[in-house]
Amino acid sequence: MKIADNLEMLELPMKVMGIERIIYPTLMWDDDNVILIDTGIPGNLETIKKQMGAAGTSFDKLSKIIATQQDIDHIAGIKGILSKNPEITVLAHEEDKPYIQGDKKVKRLNSKFMDRIKDLPEEEQLKIVDMFENSCVKVNSTLSDGEVLLYCGGITVIHTPGHTPGHICLYHQMSKTLIAGDAMNILDGQLVGPNEDPMSEDGVNANDAINSLKKLENYDIVNIITYHGGLFNDKPNERIKEVIRDRKFYSYMK
Ligand SMILES: [Zn+2]
Repeated sequence: MKIADNLEMLELPMKVMGIERIIYPTLMWDDDNVILIDTGIPGNLETIKKQMGAAGTSFDKLSKIIATQQDIDHIAGIKGILSKNPEITVLAHEEDKPYIQGDKKVKRLNSKFMDRIKDLPEEEQLKIVDMFENSCVKVNSTLSDGEVLLYCGGITVIHTPGHTPGHICLYHQMSKTLIAGDAMNILDGQLVGPNEDPMSEDGVNANDAINSLKKLENYDIVNIITYHGGLFNDKPNERIKEVIRDRKFYSYMK
């Protein structure tokens, strides 16, 4: 879906945890750079190519991948893309870099997680564990809070820890679009924060997540692209305030 000139929200079907969902990576480009923000999983590659062409650019021109975070549903597709073009630069925040590179073991793959997937068919379970263990790629360059990337008219990096320690949002200045990754989600049509996990042993920190959303209040936002919920453009700044005030979180249970 076109969000603004040279800014496209991709829509990719993805089956994870036995449930078919749509994920929404973002594509933006200018004369010199084509940037994909989050990549889905290996099976998404052909759809990405097709949608890039339909958007008016092409997969062959892809020059940068920015990962908003370390989670596999965001990064597992990177390896397959790099196998087609190893020149593509991979960027992420310093705090998630060691997990993306495999230097540190991801916290999500713990006994609680294994318990959650234990009722899935064995083939599905193996696929998920395989993605966790074999999706590592080198991060070529790290991004820091407040940094402005001079591509596509200016992209501001906002460090938004909570969902993961090195989670980032990106603000596309020209269109006032916030690429939120998993810092926010949409539940029953309402804007909410990330999934809250009070146990916090898988790395989610609800207090950090709320503090991160407070940082977003400094931006004039027309569109929010959430990775799992898609586009949200109903007075985003007001709705973000409400999410903070009411501590509205996403829940897998709904
Ligand atoms: Zn996610």
